[in-house]
Amino acid sequence: KAVQVEEMLEEAADRFAFQCREKSISLTLCITDKLPRVYADRDKIDQVLDNLISNAVKYTPEGGSIAIVAAKRPGGMVEISVADTGIGIPKKDLGRIFERFYRVDKARSRRLGGTGLGLSIAKEIIQAHEGEIEIDSIYGKGTIVSFTLPACVPEVVQ
Ligand code: ATP
Ligand code: MG
Repeated sequence: KAVQVEEMLEEAADRFAFQCREKSISLTLCITDKLPRVYADRDKIDQVLDNLISNAVKYTPEGGSIAIVAAKRPGGMVEISVADTGIGIPKKDLGRIFERFYRVDKARSRRLGGTGLGLSIAKEIIQAHEGEIEIDSIYGKGTIVSFTLPACVPEVVQ
């Protein structure tokens, strides 16, 4: 279950290329380090990525941008982030955003569709991989969600 991160992220970006183009959102992939592979269930991480990127597309107005970034972290981890220039999340909601069914502004969320389960499932999946997931946002400016996955041990020293 060694997963190559670059390939996984390229394929994830490809799945959203059409939607982003339709909404005039630029979607970029930014990987500068030579990344080790990670220990992961590829299908599960695809599910996490699809949720984070679909959230970014959903909550970013036309003309905005989304960046998917991956980098090596100390302690043998790889960090993957999805950042957007969207509507953001108020500080008071950030602490509860990983709870099941929690959604910011029910009316706004209902209009855009979804169940409010995506982030809680993402957190369960990442924790099952011994990684961590966190969110930061500035209301009106944008949002970044980052998670870590353990690197394959022999590769991390290279
Ligand atoms: P589902 O993922 O189940 O289809 P959802 O997208 O509403 O529904 P989550 O992915 O769990 O549910 O997100 C929870 C709430 O967090 C969203 O309803 C939205 O209010 C807020 N949110 C999540 N991601 C972003 C983002 N990138 N920008 C702004 N708000 C966000
Ligand atoms: Mg979602």
